[in-house]
Amino acid sequence: MQHFQRVFVGGAWRATAGGEALEVLDPTHEAPIGSAPRSGRAEVDAAVAAARAAFGPWSRTPPRERAEHLTRLAAALAARRDDLARTITRELGMPYELSKRVQAGLPAAVLASFAKLASEYEFERRVENSLVLRVPLGVVGCITPWNYPLHQIVLKVGAALAAGCTVVVKPSEQTPLCAFEFAQLVEACGLPPGVFNLVSGTGAEAGEALASHPGLDALSFTGSTRAGQRVSELAARNLVRVSLELGGKSANLILDDADLPRAVKNGVGACLLNSGQTCSALTRMLVPRARLEEATRLAVEAARGFVVGDPFDAATRLGPLVSSAQRERVRDLVRSGVEEGAQLVCGGVEAPAHCARGWFLTPTVFTRVERGMRIAREEIFGPVLAILAHDGDEHAIELANDSDYGLAAAVWSNDAARAERVARALRVGQVELNGGKFNLLAPFGGFKRSGHGREFGVHGLEEFLTTQALQR
Ligand code: NAP
Repeated sequence: MQHFQRVFVGGAWRATAGGEALEVLDPTHEAPIGSAPRSGRAEVDAAVAAARAAFGPWSRTPPRERAEHLTRLAAALAARRDDLARTITRELGMPYELSKRVQAGLPAAVLASFAKLASEYEFERRVENSLVLRVPLGVVGCITPWNYPLHQIVLKVGAALAAGCTVVVKPSEQTPLCAFEFAQLVEACGLPPGVFNLVSGTGAEAGEALASHPGLDALSFTGSTRAGQRVSELAARNLVRVSLELGGKSANLILDDADLPRAVKNGVGACLLNSGQTCSALTRMLVPRARLEEATRLAVEAARGFVVGDPFDAATRLGPLVSSAQRERVRDLVRSGVEEGAQLVCGGVEAPAHCARGWFLTPTVFTRVERGMRIAREEIFGPVLAILAHDGDEHAIELANDSDYGLAAAVWSNDAARAERVARALRVGQVELNGGKFNLLAPFGGFKRSGHGREFGVHGLEEFLTTQALQR
C-alpha cells in the first residue's frame, strides 16, 4: 500500500486542510492499493503562491543551469524506471514490460530532451534596432489525465521548467501515485523550492480551483474535450492563456497499393495499445472496399493475438481498463455499434472467461462501419477498432477528415509521394507514414476538438514562452 498523506508545496510536504484521502484502486484486482490527499482551494492557493514566489529567481536562472537541474532529474527518473513502471502498472493496468518502456522510460527521455533544448534554444534574437526576448510565461497550472500519467506530467513540467516557468501540477485522481513518486525525485534532486508543486484531488474540486485561479499566467490541460471546454471557460475569466491537448478519433488510411498485412497488423497494434486508452489511437481503419473482407480477416487475426490478462504476466499484451466506469462507457459504445448495424467480428461486451476479476474487455473489431455511427464518431477509449471501406484516395481523405477531432492519422502506401500527398490533405496535427517512428522532437497536438496546444520539442517549449522587445 502506498499512502501519501501530504501534498508537495514550496519544497515541503504539507498536510491538507481537510485531511481527507482519495483511495486508489488496482484495475486488475479491483482492490485498494493506496491513497492520495484530497486537496481543495486552500492547497491550490498555497501551491500557486509558492510557484509565484519561486518564479522570479527560477526565470532568471541561466538556461544552462536550468538544463543541469533537468538533466539530474532525468537521470534520477531513469534510475527509478522499473519502480515507477510497477506503480503505473498497478494503478493503470498497462502490461509491466510495456510500462517500463513507455510509461516510465519515455518520460526520462523527454526530460533529457528538454534539458538539451534549454541549453541550446536561442532565447534572444536581434531584429533591426530591437532585441526580441523569448521570456517565460510565469506560473503554469498543469492538469493531467490517467492514461499516460507520468508522461503527461513530465511532458508539461519538462517544457515549462526549461522555459523558466514554475508549475502547479494536478494529476488525475485515478493515477496519482506515480505523481507523488515523481515529486519525491524532484525533492531528492534539489530543485529550488516552489519550482514544482503537486496538489492531488478531484477534477471538480482541486482541478477547478486551479483552472480558475487568478494567480496563474497559463494553464496547460490534457484530458477530455468536455473538461477542456470547462477549464477554458474558467481560465478565460482571468484571461489566463490556455493550452489544450484533448481527445481523438484518429484514422488509419490504407491505400490500395499498400502492404495490407503489414498495415493492418501495425494498425491493430496502434489501436489496442494501452487497452485502447491512448489519445492518438488509430481507431478508424479505412481500407479499400475491394479488400474489406481480407482486411477484416487480418484485423481479427491480429486482435486475437493480443493475450489479455494480468499485466505483470510477461505474456500479457492487454491489461484491464482503468476503471469500472471506463469499461461501462466502452460497453455502451460497443452495444451502440451492434444496434446501429455494424458487423461485430471479434470481442464484444464480455471480459475473457479467465478474467473474472478486474475491468477487462476482449479486443473488439467491427467491420462494415458507416461514418454516421457512434463508433465511427465518438472517442471510445477502449480496445475497439472500427473498419470502414473507402473508394480511393479522395474518399479516404474525406472520411478521415469527417470528424470533430483532428489529433493524429496514419497513411499506408507503397508510393511515398502518394502517401505524403494524402497526409498533407489531412486536418490533423501528426501523421505517421508507413509506420514512421515516433519522434520526441516533433510537435504533437490537435486541430479542431482535439485542442490547439503543441507538446514535445521546440514547439512544446515555446508553448511556455512569450515575447518581449527591447528597442534601442
Ligand atoms: P478528463 O476526465 O478530462 O480528466 C483529465 C484531467 O482533468 C484529470 O486530472 C481530471 O481530474 C481533470 N478534470 C476533470 N474535470 C475537470 C474540471 N471540471 N476542472 C478541472 N479539471 C478537471 O480526462 P481523462 O478521462 O483523465 O483522460 C482521457 C482523455 O484525455 C481522453 O479524451 C484522451 O483522448 C485525452 N488525452 C489527450 C491527450 C493529448 O495529448 N491530446 C493525451 C492523453 C489523453 P480527475 O481525474 O481527478 O477527475
